[in-house]
Amino acid sequence: MQTPPTGLFEAALPSDWPQPEALGFGQILGPCLVHAHHDDEGWSAPRISNRENLPVAVASGGLQYGFSVFEGLKAFRDPQERIHLFRPRDHARRLQKSARRVVMPEPDEELFVQLCQLAVQVHARYVPPHGRGALYLRPTLYAEEEALGFRTARRHAFAVAVTPSSDPPQKNVRLWAENELVRAAPGGLGEAKTGGNYAAGILGLQRARARGYDDVVWLDALQHRRLAEAGTMNVFVQIGNELLTPPLDGTILAGITRDSVLRLLRADGLRVVEHDVSLDELSAAQMAGQLGTAFGVGTAARLVQISEIADESRSIRFSDTGLAARVYAALKQVQEGSTHALREWRTPVPTAQA
Ligand SMILES: *Cc1c(COP(=O)(O)O)cnc(C)c1O
Repeated sequence: MQTPPTGLFEAALPSDWPQPEALGFGQILGPCLVHAHHDDEGWSAPRISNRENLPVAVASGGLQYGFSVFEGLKAFRDPQERIHLFRPRDHARRLQKSARRVVMPEPDEELFVQLCQLAVQVHARYVPPHGRGALYLRPTLYAEEEALGFRTARRHAFAVAVTPSSDPPQKNVRLWAENELVRAAPGGLGEAKTGGNYAAGILGLQRARARGYDDVVWLDALQHRRLAEAGTMNVFVQIGNELLTPPLDGTILAGITRDSVLRLLRADGLRVVEHDVSLDELSAAQMAGQLGTAFGVGTAARLVQISEIADESRSIRFSDTGLAARVYAALKQVQEGSTHALREWRTPVPTAQA
């Protein structure tokens, strides 16, 4: 157990601080950045700066070529109001994997956890009370050297931004299956958490919204038949007594929430398999009265129920079996530490307050 840092700077809350339920997601940014830099001499010691004081250069590889990978993880308060990070080492390893794909220096697990803990400690007052939200952390690794030649940069930054967020609402979404545009193809960037995937995906989101849907669901790049993932969420669908989620084939992001949900569902005795699932199979299951519930999962939204997936030729309607609400509740419990189960997923953050 680490001792709380003494005399560490703690950012003050603005005077017009809203109720946790009004924070939403990603609207209010913490005032500080915790950051370290990598060059020929390796990693620098972490520093804390005002967020406005860390500019990104126009001629950097981060902006020009998209040499930028990131993570999204949350810090919660437990019933005693102590703060912990949820599965930070799993997020560290995924960032390393993303960094390797884009040929950037990998922060080691210790540096990743240290910067995240520091970012939480500095913003301790920004962490909502137990059960009412979380501090979302956005560790970002990017090329910051100014040079226009196409090569690996000589200087990179690793910075952690934070945003306090409400507990995500339990909601239903309708998804449009995009059958023209592609988010990620085999051999591409799909399994790296990198900005390029979002650049590829934003037009699909806009087109789904224009049709009156909440989000896009991506299909496989070659045939546009199999489900891949929703905009920023991995998907699960229930057919008969089996739950299916697309396998990690390199084109989808290996969600930490996906992994948590797999663990929780299996512990609950449910049959869940990582297997391809096509729109045709879903239509057939619907015809046979075998179609159960569907949901999307990710750190920001936790779990949202999917009520419909549609494309030009069909509308697949899922039913509410109560499973989505149960999984949402189970996930919230382990994330917030309201249960002793799966303690290894929660890494304490010592603070002066608690
Ligand atoms: C981050 C992300 C997810 C969800 O991953 P979690 O680790 O569960 O937050 C899913 N899809 C994409 C494309 C993502 O970037």
